[in-house]
Amino acid sequence: MRESASAYASRIRRFRLPRVCIAVVGGDAATMVERAESLVRDNHLIELRLDYLPQPLAALAKLKNFIELHPEATFIATCRRAANGGKFKGTVAAQLAILRKAADMGFQLADLELQSASSLKANELRDLYDRIGLIVSYHDFRATKKLDDQLATMSKFPADFYKLVSTATNLHDNVVMMKFLEAHAGSHEMVGLCMGEQGIISRVLGVRAGSVFTFGAAVRGEETAPGQVPAGELRDVYRIDMVDQATQVYGVAGDPVAHSLSPVMMNAAFRRETVNAVYLALHAKTLKDLLACVQEIPIRGLSVTMPYKQEILDALENSDALTRQIGACNTVVRGAGGQLYGFNTDVAGITVPLEQRMSLSGARVLIVGAGGAARAGAFGLKAKGAEVFITNRTPEKGQSLARSAKAKYLKRADVAKQQFDVIINATPLGMNGSKQTPLHENELNTKYVFDLVYTPAETALIKMARSRELQVIPGLEMFVQQGARQFEIWTGKPAPIAEMGYVVTKALERRAAEEAFEEPKAAAHGAAKKSTQVSPTRSAPKKSAKTSRSNAKASNSKR
Ligand code: NAP
Repeated sequence: MRESASAYASRIRRFRLPRVCIAVVGGDAATMVERAESLVRDNHLIELRLDYLPQPLAALAKLKNFIELHPEATFIATCRRAANGGKFKGTVAAQLAILRKAADMGFQLADLELQSASSLKANELRDLYDRIGLIVSYHDFRATKKLDDQLATMSKFPADFYKLVSTATNLHDNVVMMKFLEAHAGSHEMVGLCMGEQGIISRVLGVRAGSVFTFGAAVRGEETAPGQVPAGELRDVYRIDMVDQATQVYGVAGDPVAHSLSPVMMNAAFRRETVNAVYLALHAKTLKDLLACVQEIPIRGLSVTMPYKQEILDALENSDALTRQIGACNTVVRGAGGQLYGFNTDVAGITVPLEQRMSLSGARVLIVGAGGAARAGAFGLKAKGAEVFITNRTPEKGQSLARSAKAKYLKRADVAKQQFDVIINATPLGMNGSKQTPLHENELNTKYVFDLVYTPAETALIKMARSRELQVIPGLEMFVQQGARQFEIWTGKPAPIAEMGYVVTKALERRAAEEAFEEPKAAAHGAAKKSTQVSPTRSAPKKSAKTSRSNAKASNSKR
């Protein structure tokens, strides 16, 4: 038993703990130890989810040796009950017995849900608190509300940390969580964050609002909660260890944004140029929600993507001439007084890669498409003196763009009759591995083909152009150049373009490899599903142990 609760608590004060705790799961003690062993070198705060083990009490002896071998790390024992979002089906008394034994086995901290704490006798809870550092936790799987009321209830119980984990249903819930942390971090040791894809702000910035630490997944695919970010990403991409009060916050705002590569690219640029800033993916379901966060967090600058490029214009104090002409803004700067200023860097994303290869004055450029990217291209290229042609699936839209940008509209049937210096694909055709191309091979009468689509890097159009020995410009160049211009607008520094291009290329390669890995699995899953759907007279196959495990994991506790 420890010397005294307060002396023990002083050993686990916030400055002794890393900012990221990794939750480790496993179907048996050996697997759990193996996973923890592979992580402990870089992660000195590890939560072992005992509730994932079929026999947690018996397994604890097997964990003891591992814990003793790693005095550099702090281990949290969590045996979350099923009723509170975990996997443990035993009683509160059984849960208590497991956590007491965990203390004997060398765990420094135990996580106990508020619901369990409430049903224990005062002396039982005090006894646990005397044995081990105690985290009393509360999870709200639906919303972020009544945090103060919850804390008032929780603080009736002795604990070293009070942990409140809610669910963000909008971006502003992060503001609510961070204000709550700021208000209480002076009087309690707090841990707080919002789950869900929209909770990323609190996962990264919560530590500066007063959360002693936050939670990260061991690796992508092993998240124990919706919206959980791999711990390595929290440290390497978001540089959570250096986030402080002076850190400027930027983000890409859209709906959806989960797959955006902008956070990888822009955070790498900030790191390279030692700018104290962090860049987040902001899944905004409404512009109103986004704008409230911009003011309250506050957010210093935004990359704006679909569907807000036009809608945001009304919220701007001012914007540059091209943004007004195009009628779309993809870059916002927030002034010190909260005013928002708009820019359109998609223009540079299209013109810069071309200017690196040719003079645009007098160049004949065909743009296929008449949406936002086509508009940026048409106005930007006209401003550089190019002769611009537009063709589009919906002729009226193409004609309208051609008129406003002083370009020429070409009927699709006439495209093959013309010769161009550049053809630009400004449609989504070819995205995500689709074999579709915006034009046929006989229509590629051009020196250069510039495909704005950048996922995948090698689109069907790029392949077709290469097979005709045409020069190609991949969409990645636009992505990097529009981001580089944003970086320059926000920081006043030249952008580290090579670094930005490198990290995005690597991220695209990783994504392609992950997709290639997932495809056979999905095909196998489809085949298996089909084989179970044969005859209604055939009895349903038994679930394999593996399927049961993965189903259980999917429905498991959240953070
Ligand atoms: P948008 O505003 O939705 O416009 C899409 C355009 O593509 C419209 O003109 C539309 O024609 C046309 N289109 C859509 N589906 C089509 C189909 N099945 N067949 C023929 N035409 C079709 O999109 P956007 O913002 O301009 O973006 C266009 C593409 O550019 C995106 O998909 C993206 O891949 C790429 N992009 C890349 C970057 C980068 O950094 N590399 C930046 C921005 C955009 P209708 O008028 O007939 O609907």
